[in-house]
Amino acid sequence: MNGNIHSIETLGTVDGPGIRYVIFTQGCLLRCQFCHNADTWEIGTGKQMTVSEIMHDLESYLPFIQASGGGITVSGGEPLLQIPFLIELFKQCKQKGIHTTIDSSGGCFSHSKLFMEQLEELLQYTDLILLDLKHINRKKHIQLTGMANDHILEFARFLSDRNIPIWVRHVLVPTVTDDSADLQKLGEFIGSLQNVQKIEILPYHKLGVYKWEALGYDYPLQQVEPPTEEQVKYAQQMLTAHWSNPNGH
Ligand code: SF4
Repeated sequence: MNGNIHSIETLGTVDGPGIRYVIFTQGCLLRCQFCHNADTWEIGTGKQMTVSEIMHDLESYLPFIQASGGGITVSGGEPLLQIPFLIELFKQCKQKGIHTTIDSSGGCFSHSKLFMEQLEELLQYTDLILLDLKHINRKKHIQLTGMANDHILEFARFLSDRNIPIWVRHVLVPTVTDDSADLQKLGEFIGSLQNVQKIEILPYHKLGVYKWEALGYDYPLQQVEPPTEEQVKYAQQMLTAHWSNPNGH
């Protein structure tokens, strides 16, 4: 089974617990204005890699990964565009006792029979989902990502109903995703979910702008600067206001 892979980061520390072997898959349906991986957008390109190639490569990092309480994270792009590949990869990971995480925007979630069957199977081998909620306001979500958020919020509820652990992540972009009323509504939505283990604010940064330029795209947030520490702290408070932290602290 082949996956379309953009790149691999062998010892990542920001995409899930511990040290992670992070695979960035190729292909995404969203077009987030702050995307720092614009070169992962195109579907069906990237490097074709087999599950065994990846497992072989991952093996050499396992001692570090396991000692840190880490595992494998598949990010993107949008990993859920390649579910059959993920099922085979995660099945093999679970046979070796490796913690498995998916970083998803939920952008391709659908109730189609095939998608649901594949997703249900994948979830049997998935320990954690990092769910990127970009905006709670439908209209602003369309402006920000090119797509409405109804099915993304449905995906969050679906995972909550099945009690699949998630970490909610929210990119804080001054003037775009930091409106108080929106943060409050997002906090209320997060508080209505039963499966949230952690809430992370990801401060907006400009590290991927060069990729937009290289691809010949106009970068839409040229005038926007990263948030201050206070702004991040405020957003964190708003998003955790209705959340019962399962870790108790
Ligand atoms: S979902 Fe992720 S990869 Fe896709 S456009 Fe948004 S930030 Fe980029």
